[in-house]
Amino acid sequence: NRQIRLAARPVGVPKPSDWKFIDEPVGEPADGEVLVKVLYLSLDPAMRGWMNEGKSYIRPVAIDEVMRAGGVGVVVASKSDRFKVGDHVVGTLNVQTHALVPEKALTRIDPRLAPLPVYLSVLGMPGMTAYFGLLDVGQPKEGNTVVVSGAAGAVGAVVGQIAKIKGCRVVGIAGGADKCRYVVEELGFDAAIDYKTDDVKKALRATCEKGIDVYFDNVGGDILDAALAHLAFKARVVICGAISQYNNTTPIVGPANYLSLLVNRARMEGMIVFDYADRYAEAAREMAGWMQAGKLKSREDVVDGLDTFPDRLLMLFKGENQGKLVLRVASA
Ligand code: NDP
Repeated sequence: NRQIRLAARPVGVPKPSDWKFIDEPVGEPADGEVLVKVLYLSLDPAMRGWMNEGKSYIRPVAIDEVMRAGGVGVVVASKSDRFKVGDHVVGTLNVQTHALVPEKALTRIDPRLAPLPVYLSVLGMPGMTAYFGLLDVGQPKEGNTVVVSGAAGAVGAVVGQIAKIKGCRVVGIAGGADKCRYVVEELGFDAAIDYKTDDVKKALRATCEKGIDVYFDNVGGDILDAALAHLAFKARVVICGAISQYNNTTPIVGPANYLSLLVNRARMEGMIVFDYADRYAEAAREMAGWMQAGKLKSREDVVDGLDTFPDRLLMLFKGENQGKLVLRVASA
C-alpha cells in the first residue's frame, strides 16, 4: 500500500518536504470492514485547511497521518454483509492506493449511471455544496441576480447552473478569458467577469444593474469586498470558501465593506457541506435528473498518478484546473 502522509505543517504554499511517501503491506479487513482499491481521489482546496493545526469544522490531519481525501474505489476484500467484492464505493479513502474502511463510512455507487469521477463532482461533495449552499443558504428567487466566484470550478459551475435552472440571472467571476467564455457559452451564464483583467467592482455595477441578490463566495479577499459593495436590499451572501486566503502567511483581513450588510439589511452566512449529509441522496437524485435532462453539466479534470499528488494539489491555487480536479490512482 503506497501512501502519502503529512510530514510537516506547511507555512504558505505546501512544499515537497511537507509530504512523505510510505510503502507498507496492504492489510486485511476486520469484521465489518472492507478493503478498497482506490481508483480516483478528489483534490480539494479544503485540503490546505486540513493541514493546519487549530480548531476548525473538522480535525486537522495529524503529522505522520495519511493525508485525508475523498475518493472512489472498488471493493477487493470484504468482511461486511453490506459490500461484496467488485462493488464500487465512495467515501474518505485518503491519499493511498488501498484503504481499509468501516462499512458505515462507505456509500455504494453505480458505475453504469455515471462515469466514476462524476461521483466526486456534481454527484459528490462539490455538487452537494453547490446545491445546499445555493438553495438552502442563498435562497434564490426567480428573477434574482446571482453572482458566483470561482465560477468555472467544481462548486461554482454547479451553483451557476442551478441558479439558471431556478430562473435567476447569473454572473460568474473567474480567472481568464477561457474560463469566462466557458461559463457563458457552455454553461449558459448570462455574463462573466475576468477578475484577472477586469475591474471587478466596475464590472459588477455594469452587469448587475439592480444589485446582487445572492452572492455565492468561493474565493474571499478583494472579490468578496467588491461583491459586498454592490448588494441589493435583503441580499444573501453565502460564505462557502475563501481560496484566495488559504495559503496566507499573515492573518486574513476581514471585508472592508461589511457595513453594506447593515445598509441593505442583508445576511452573510457560512455553510459546511457535511451538515447536509442526511440529505445527500435527495440532492443527488434531483441533480442526476437535471443531468439526464441536459440542464446540468459536470466537468472533471482528471490527472494521473498517486505520486503526483503534492504538485497536482497546487493546481487548484494557481487556477490550472478546468472543472473538478480528480486524481486517477488506478484503472478499474
Ligand atoms: P475549484 O474547482 O473552484 O478550484 C479552485 C479554483 O479557485 C481555481 O481553479 C481558481 O480558479 C480559483 N482560485 C485559486 N486561487 C484564487 C485566488 N487567489 N483568487 C480567486 N480565485 C482563485 O475548487 P472547488 O470548487 O472544489 O472549491 C471552491 C471553493 O469552495 C473553495 O473555496 C473550497 O474551499 C470551497 N468548498 C467549500 C465547501 C464547504 O462545505 N463550505 C465544500 C467544498 C468546497 P480561477 O482560474 O478562476 O482563478
